[in-house]
Amino acid sequence: MEYRRLGKTGLQLSVLSYGSWVTFSKQVDDSASDILMGLAYDNGINFFDNAEAYEGGRSEEMMGRVLRQKNWDRTSYCISSKAFFGLHGKNNKPNQHGLSRKHLTEACHAALKRLQVDYLDLFYCHRADPDTTIEEVVRTMNILIQQGKILYWGTSEWSVAEIIEAHSVAKELGFIAPVMEQPQYNLFERYKMEKEYLPIFKDTGMGTTIWSPLASGLLSGKYNNGIPADSRLAIENYNWLKDRLIQEDKLNKVRKLEKVANELSTTLATLSIAWCIHNPSVTTAILGATKEKQLNENLKALEIYPKLTPEIMKQIDDIMGTKPV
Ligand code: NDP
Repeated sequence: MEYRRLGKTGLQLSVLSYGSWVTFSKQVDDSASDILMGLAYDNGINFFDNAEAYEGGRSEEMMGRVLRQKNWDRTSYCISSKAFFGLHGKNNKPNQHGLSRKHLTEACHAALKRLQVDYLDLFYCHRADPDTTIEEVVRTMNILIQQGKILYWGTSEWSVAEIIEAHSVAKELGFIAPVMEQPQYNLFERYKMEKEYLPIFKDTGMGTTIWSPLASGLLSGKYNNGIPADSRLAIENYNWLKDRLIQEDKLNKVRKLEKVANELSTTLATLSIAWCIHNPSVTTAILGATKEKQLNENLKALEIYPKLTPEIMKQIDDIMGTKPV
């Protein structure tokens, strides 16, 4: 495993990490999640990602049960939660979502309970909240850090302007600024990481924990000939994701990419994840996996990414046509 510093902090995260969105408590049970987290940890993964909203808190409860069962040395891994969406989706009452001091504090306490840990290593604002001032967010995160309930705080899918405001407020108040952003990054979604966020990386030294490196599995090639019954896009209620991803032009690009994977004697999934961690602005790529076979395949990205020469990267750019100009 390779470890990268989270931006300019002293914290080292494994360049591949493991997250539980959709999977825990929806697709996999306790015994499968135990095997998958064990496999990840045994391969050097030291960061497990979660959020209050994942399966209405049940994903964190499942991860908490696995962590309790494993009884790993708490200093050997990092765990995260994210707040914003609340537990109840459309049925959230006022103050049960957003980034107010009340919700951020209550969400943090609830995540600690569900995950059965004394502190969160990373705590994210899962989205920006137009109804709460950034000063309130910065003050709350600072309090949670001082109370020892969280160690580092960050943002997910915030705009550059919002992130810069958080940094200037923190500087003005002498408080701790966000140190990581969690954006989507994969061969289809490149603009934020490769263009929009560049000034942030340069000026604030934030790290990134990127999500959906396989675009929910699309970049593994598994959807090239239809939707397998046991896959994410076959799940009821995920039609919105299916509509976003299953498009003929996207599938054609994935089919063409297979040639590059074959030339490297690897698979599409391994190649697509290797491509993500080839970008030095990526601190860690959070893997999703419902099966041991998938996770083993995805971990091979560590061997492939040093083999991505400028010529191969250009070949990939030409096929995908998604490189920001
Ligand atoms: P991916 O894009 O890697 O998609 C993972 C899914 O793809 C798996 O669950 C599996 O689904 C399928 N898959 C994975 N590996 C393979 C393989 N080798 N072959 C075939 N299929 C494969 O990541 P996620 O979208 O799951 O995102 C990763 C993590 O990022 C999440 O768990 C979460 O922690 C975080 N996240 C954060 C968000 C945010 O807003 N901050 C948003 C979304 C995710 P299946 O077996 O069901 O087909």
